[in-house]
Amino acid sequence: MMEPSEGLRLEENLDPQDWEAMRALGHEMVDEMMTYLQTVRDRYAWQPMPEAVKAQFSEPIPYEPEGAEKAYEDFREYVLPYPSGNIHPRFWGWVMGTGTPLGMLAEMLAAGMNPNLAGGDHAAAYVEEQVLNWFKVLMGFPEDASGLLVSGGSMANLVGLTVARNAKAEYDLRREGLGAAPRKMMLYSSSETHSSNQKAVELLGLGSEALRKIAVNEDYQVDIQAMDAAIAEDRENGYLPFCIIGNAGTVNTGAIDNLNGLADICEREDLWFHVDGAFGAVAALSRDLKPLVGGMERADSLAFDLHKWVYLPFEAGCVLVKHEEQHRKTFSLTPDYLTHTDRGLGGGAKWPSDYGVQLSRNFRALKAWMSLKEHGVLKYGRMIKQNVEQARYLANLVDTTAELERLSPVPLNVVCFRYKAQGLDDERLNEVNEEILLRLQESGVAVPSYTTLNGKYALRAAVTNQRSRRDDFEMLVEEVVRIGGEVVEDL
Ligand SMILES: *Cc1c(COP(=O)(O)O)cnc(C)c1O
Repeated sequence: MMEPSEGLRLEENLDPQDWEAMRALGHEMVDEMMTYLQTVRDRYAWQPMPEAVKAQFSEPIPYEPEGAEKAYEDFREYVLPYPSGNIHPRFWGWVMGTGTPLGMLAEMLAAGMNPNLAGGDHAAAYVEEQVLNWFKVLMGFPEDASGLLVSGGSMANLVGLTVARNAKAEYDLRREGLGAAPRKMMLYSSSETHSSNQKAVELLGLGSEALRKIAVNEDYQVDIQAMDAAIAEDRENGYLPFCIIGNAGTVNTGAIDNLNGLADICEREDLWFHVDGAFGAVAALSRDLKPLVGGMERADSLAFDLHKWVYLPFEAGCVLVKHEEQHRKTFSLTPDYLTHTDRGLGGGAKWPSDYGVQLSRNFRALKAWMSLKEHGVLKYGRMIKQNVEQARYLANLVDTTAELERLSPVPLNVVCFRYKAQGLDDERLNEVNEEILLRLQESGVAVPSYTTLNGKYALRAAVTNQRSRRDDFEMLVEEVVRIGGEVVEDL
């Protein structure tokens, strides 16, 4: 035995010196966050941050300790009062989820256990596997499909499209790279497809020109005939069409492409069928809405989010792939130090790191696992349908309010509309509506976002909020009309 050196006796760690004090602080945090969530309706949806508060974030590096209590105090004073607002019942901007109290607690439990989901034989890996198996069933995917929980829809699209590219290349793309491609590889989507898909195509080295953005019909669904023609033209030019990206819920208007029509083309043309169902895919959780996303189950890969319309706290997305071997062959790389074993902690049937970009991965599966157990999937189906009905309710309010004009159909949960005043042309109306949106957000009453449809600036509400009530939408309409009147007067 070696004598411990003097230095060793002074070893430090990061656990609290006073566990009871930390326990008390933890209880205080839980209490305060529960009250915060319980009373969220009483506060502003969003508030600009005062300059004095912003200045706090230029404070120098804390080389010396302030302690846990002070760190929490700083959080309470400078962070907590200025949320992005998506937990509020009148937040419908972009596409965001609200989170839930149990989701918050599950994040704490996951961080407490702090497992690494790269792989291995431990309980967290089984939790993730089970969550994936549940979603395979819910999305109509076969038992032997593979899947991965990821940060969100962007990463899910990247993973799906990477498998598509490697599976459909005419050579060993992984080894030889794109430079060896005998033919330029092409993908097809609608012009309404989310930007994360283009980003993925660019990251994959294919170049954004490889993504043919096909025109949409008046319902913002891809024009299937035009897509067919583009594929035929590319073949004639010696390119290699390899993938169609279908939309189950476009970000602008919630449009759902004719997924069966796209799946038919893919079968006929031997293309990979990827579906971006970031929020729309989970319509399948509602028996009544499921037919809307019919054909989605024919996808080779499907991307969807759990932090949008499954209301889990950020981040959580999912990708399912029908060809496990292609999926694994795309990402698996096992140097000696990662070799899987038959026994011990290095065991476990499948290592998630063989199916995606990340090696170290967090335990995001726990919040999904616990939340689905908490409420049951039927409740989620009802919540999603409720949001769709609320969107239709808002659409109807818009349609029956003289000062407002709806700008797109409402097939799902997204409503686009604008304030309209007599005698103002589109250009003027665009300015007016942009100002309405900013004043509305700054008032803290409600947070819709915006988009442009056929050159018209649209106020846009995407309803993925488990806290909204019908009267919240009534308030939105009243406020838009009221602020609209003021803005026009100020012109
Ligand atoms: C939000 C969204 C994405 C991107 O998902 P993230 O979770 O934000 O990465 C992709 N596609 C659609 C249709 C989306 O709405």
